[in-house]
Amino acid sequence: MKCNICSSECNEVFEGKILKKYDVKYYLCPICKHLQTEKPYWLNEAYLNPIAKEDTGILKRNYDNRIITSAVIEGFFNSDLKFLDYAGGWGILTRLMRDDGYDFVWIDKYSENLFAKGFEYNKKDKIELITAFEVLEHLENPLHELEELFQISPNLLFSQPLLPYPIPKIGNWWYYTPETGQHISFYDKTTLKYLAKYFNKNYVFYNDFHLFSDKTISQKDFSTIIKNSYYIYLKQTGKRKSKISEDLEYLKTH
Ligand SMILES: [Zn+2]
Repeated sequence: MKCNICSSECNEVFEGKILKKYDVKYYLCPICKHLQTEKPYWLNEAYLNPIAKEDTGILKRNYDNRIITSAVIEGFFNSDLKFLDYAGGWGILTRLMRDDGYDFVWIDKYSENLFAKGFEYNKKDKIELITAFEVLEHLENPLHELEELFQISPNLLFSQPLLPYPIPKIGNWWYYTPETGQHISFYDKTTLKYLAKYFNKNYVFYNDFHLFSDKTISQKDFSTIIKNSYYIYLKQTGKRKSKISEDLEYLKTH
């Protein structure tokens, strides 16, 4: 099997039981260190329930992501422009960001929009920054899908737990979640560096948070922003006008 990122020949490293019934092979790329499953023929089944009932961390994660996103916007982007939460699930982050006064819109190929109805992404929208939290592990063809994202905006903030080293076997790393069938792509720091180079992006990271952008941002500055994100968030929320009332008026007439 060829790596779906750098096209090198991959090595089978282990097998896992996906959706409790399919024996699936996992392949590791020796060059970019990308770990991927064999061609995921089970995805339709995996997305019958796009948000797995096992996702008990959904609200905590969205609250944390709101703080990080706000800090990164304040640190490096124009907060008056429009933002897109890609694969935004039920729309929780989009709503939270709008509550804090940021013009966020939503898109998701699989999930129903529960919290951000009326604020769907429109192709005409000019997007300053895309957020994609816990998304890259779902991608069947990361190169193709990132290419599509960069046509929407040059800047992408995403979260991605990196593959531990040595590569854990299935069952020894919670993030594989074979019972949901949705996580099919796993990334090493080498993989993300390869992707950044491929798309000619400035790449900075801190813990599980990564930023690909066209801006020259230093690793030190990005780390400082993430480390101080809670403080930055609190400082700016007092200044920005929430969109709660404005959105209500908009939705009455749309
Ligand atoms: Zn590769």
